Amino acid sequence: MHEMSIAANIIKIAEESLVKNHGKAIDKIQLEVGQLSGIVIESLQFALDVSKKDGILKKAQIIINEIPGKLKCLNCGQNFESDDYFSCCPNCNTHELEVLAGKDIFVKSITIR
Ligand SMILES: [Zn+2]
Repeated sequence: MHEMSIAANIIKIAEESLVKNHGKAIDKIQLEVGQLSGIVIESLQFALDVSKKDGILKKAQIIINEIPGKLKCLNCGQNFESDDYFSCCPNCNTHELEVLAGKDIFVKSITIR
């Protein structure tokens, strides 16, 4: 599952951050997940719950913020929001789109004790 490897990555980032800051534990970690990233938030949440069980994130609160997908139509120039990359332009109904926002996942903040 794609989300499992993402969860493993997030935990690795958290571990590195903990070591670098000589912290004891991680209290909170905030993630931003774009609606067009292809990541299913429920699956990611599940993957994190499974992965963090015995690790340093065991007691950490994990907050996932969803970032709306923004697309631009390359045909007519219309900007619009959508959570589906395969949607069509609401103005001219073509599918020649550029992603403006909501494509990525990243760790927004890590709170270390
Ligand atoms: Zn258009």
